[in-house]
Amino acid sequence: MKYVRGDIVTGGKRFEDKAIGISNGKIVSVGEGESVPDAPVHRVKGLICPGFVDIHIHGLCGYDFMDGASAFDEIADRLPRYGITSFLATSRTSEPSELMAFLHHAQEFRRKTTTGAGLLGVHIEGPWISPLYPGAQNKSLIRKLSQEDISNIIGPFSDLISIVTLAPEEVGDVSLFKELVEKGIRISAGHTQASMEEIGVAIKHGLTQVTHTFNAMSPIHHRTPGTAAAALFYEELACEIITDGLHVHPNMIELLYKIKGKENMLLISDCTGYNDLGDGEYSFRGKELVKTGDEVTLKNGALAGSAITLDKGIKYVVENCGIPLEDAVYMASEGPLHAIGKDISKGRIKVGYDADLVVLEEDLSVAATYLNGEVVYKEE
Ligand SMILES: [Zn+2]
Repeated sequence: MKYVRGDIVTGGKRFEDKAIGISNGKIVSVGEGESVPDAPVHRVKGLICPGFVDIHIHGLCGYDFMDGASAFDEIADRLPRYGITSFLATSRTSEPSELMAFLHHAQEFRRKTTTGAGLLGVHIEGPWISPLYPGAQNKSLIRKLSQEDISNIIGPFSDLISIVTLAPEEVGDVSLFKELVEKGIRISAGHTQASMEEIGVAIKHGLTQVTHTFNAMSPIHHRTPGTAAAALFYEELACEIITDGLHVHPNMIELLYKIKGKENMLLISDCTGYNDLGDGEYSFRGKELVKTGDEVTLKNGALAGSAITLDKGIKYVVENCGIPLEDAVYMASEGPLHAIGKDISKGRIKVGYDADLVVLEEDLSVAATYLNGEVVYKEE
């Protein structure tokens, strides 16, 4: 038994001077003062938050989940430095064999006992997307979702797959949506040209989410409102958003927040692994990329995922988008867990929940990270 004591942020609210009782990796009490005598008390100067949850991340520190089994270890070990305690490993449009290898590696990793951030599942981004909005995905490998893909690729890994990003208008047979939903998979519209009407139909068949809202989708137009407009219009849709200040204008991030509130807005990094690399040109998995500051682009200028981590995304929205820190933390912890719809006892500082915690400094940098009650990262 031990206590971590300080100001806490959870559930979109701030509470002063609370003692979090931790035993066997779980939160066993949240109170005014410690009640078990002689139990050690770690007094914390910064703000104690639930560990961050990134549901859309491709890589970190030069590693990419699609590189192979060891990439999972390398990335999971480094994520706590950035306050991330849980994640969905995210794939990208690839050959079926590569996607299968990624799924196998994820499954092996999930079965292992590890000390890094926890893999909650995977997010499949493509190949079932629109060739009109490939973003940085490999256009030649885009294909239509088929019954065979569901049987051969998704079926064997359905308990591992949390989210599938697809273009709803490219799915010929809407009964395929139902099959995904029945497997407990969340469908997210992304890399899509879907119209307002097509999104409306997809919602009736199980669409619940929007992938990196405003990026790689049909835009807002007042006579032909596309997916971006539908994301705002349909209140039941939870919207991912990249908050690096490059993918989306800060006022559009604020607009999304004004419409969706903290409940249906999900901060993601979409990090492609360039977070700690210097400026320059790189050849990465067959793509020529240019990095300048936090910006990563293909040679043609298209943004190629982001170079930020979720902690930076939280700081950005607090400092630039008029979003209270309490809500920003919610949108990067509890909110994403609700969106993936699994019953997971994480994302809150609450009795019975896992003691995955992040301590933020006043400047919102990560001072320390706890996984199952143990300090796994501490700022030098
Ligand atoms: Zn992505």
